[in-house]
Amino acid sequence: MNYPDTYYSRTLTDRTERPALSGDITCDTVVIGGGLAGITTALQLSRGGQKVVVLEAKSIGFGASGRNGGFVSAGYATDVEQISGIAGREAAHRLYLMSIEGVDFVRDSISGLSIAGADPVDGVTSVMRYDDGDGLRTYATEARQRYGQDLEYLDTARVRRELKSTRYFHGVRDRKAFHIHPLNYLRGLAAEIERLGGVICENSNAIATELNAGNKTVRTAGGTVTARTVVFSTGGYTDQLNPRLRRAMLPIATYVMVTEEAPELIATAITTRDGIGDNRRAGDYYRLVDGGKRLLWGGRITTRAASMSGLVHELRREMTGTYPQLRDLKTELAWSGLMAYARHLMPQIGEMQPGVWHCTAFGGHGLNTTAIGGKVVAEGILGESERYKLFAPFGLVWAGGMAGLAAAQLTYWKLQAQDWWRERAA
Ligand SMILES: Cc1cc2nc3c(=O)[nH]c(=O)nc-3n(C[C@H](O)[C@H](O)[C@H](O)COP(=O)(O)OP(=O)(O)OC[C@H]3O[C@@H](n4cnc5c(N)ncnc54)[C@H](O)[C@@H]3O)c2cc1C
Repeated sequence: MNYPDTYYSRTLTDRTERPALSGDITCDTVVIGGGLAGITTALQLSRGGQKVVVLEAKSIGFGASGRNGGFVSAGYATDVEQISGIAGREAAHRLYLMSIEGVDFVRDSISGLSIAGADPVDGVTSVMRYDDGDGLRTYATEARQRYGQDLEYLDTARVRRELKSTRYFHGVRDRKAFHIHPLNYLRGLAAEIERLGGVICENSNAIATELNAGNKTVRTAGGTVTARTVVFSTGGYTDQLNPRLRRAMLPIATYVMVTEEAPELIATAITTRDGIGDNRRAGDYYRLVDGGKRLLWGGRITTRAASMSGLVHELRREMTGTYPQLRDLKTELAWSGLMAYARHLMPQIGEMQPGVWHCTAFGGHGLNTTAIGGKVVAEGILGESERYKLFAPFGLVWAGGMAGLAAAQLTYWKLQAQDWWRERAA
């Protein structure tokens, strides 16, 4: 299997290996990229009666989808105000509701398909590192009224009962959000595609395409797929195969570490199974995994190759800064993954030319949004809805190349500095 060494690849429930594409095949739709976006699209097309082929360069879930934090919660990689500024209030409202539909899709798929090892655990709590309980209460009330979200305000005493850290003040708990083992989830969806007659080819890097004729072709080293429709869902691993898509995204790395097994020590700090995120704009997130025996901690972004040991040092500094009692908790493994970001921070979803679709750029908030992306692209291809057009205002605009990367890193550092000032003032 072609996975980096992660907690998820070490705890796979299904170890099926799929052969590479060999020879020439024909189908209705060929999907390039076997992450959550591609696999969800292929699943929905298979459910709609299409014959699909998925081409994945490595193993399915090799990219961000098989390495992420596992948090499934409403929203996008940018907030409703920003979305509203580009698409208008009404569209922003509908898009946010669709992000909740994405959360429901993941939950329903795990239970409907009885996906082994997806391990959903209910509850995600966002904690505040400065003292503004009124602001958080208002936020929770508005989210309930506007979107029907099931948010519970937690006061400082309650937060500190569950998270033994003086860094935290108030919190808000989303009862309908949850966290999962993302790679086992993805592999469960893949098995369902195959049960419905779809074909998934691993170690099948798409190296050339011909997209202008009615029948399009995608070529790998081992063969060719001919189809009426092509979907690009190559995320942060998008290369020059489609230069227009490549120009429209920035690959941004982010990091996760998992600790040794130490349930008693971890319980001196964290007594909830909720996923936890702090509400800094450049914040961290963490959750217990392995039945509560280990801590998974994620955060930080870089736009250039960075030293893994330096990044682990930074994540550990965050962890022990929040929980000094965890200073002897050892890190067992760490990894990084690439996210695709567009300039507007929203997913890029649509039909870029007749019969050629894209479903990408989900940034750091992809578990629910790839589900909705896959759904609306499949609905569009099947002629069932035009919901994908809601994403039209977030087009394939140039992401800025190297200058865009530098700007993204500078923005992140600026957000970190702002977070620091805000906490210092509190
Ligand atoms: C460390 C980390 C933590 C994260 N935490 C969270 C979280 O807790 N919650 C959340 O909602 N989101 C999180 N995200 C974001 C989320 O994982 C992504 O937004 C989402 O997985 C993107 O899915 P995707 O299918 O678009 O891309 P990917 O999963 O990256 O899939 C793209 C696939 O395309 C393949 N590919 C590329 N080029 C070709 C080609 N030419 N031919 C064939 N195949 C090709 C790649 O091998 C790859 O498997 C995190 C991301 C990272 C990296």
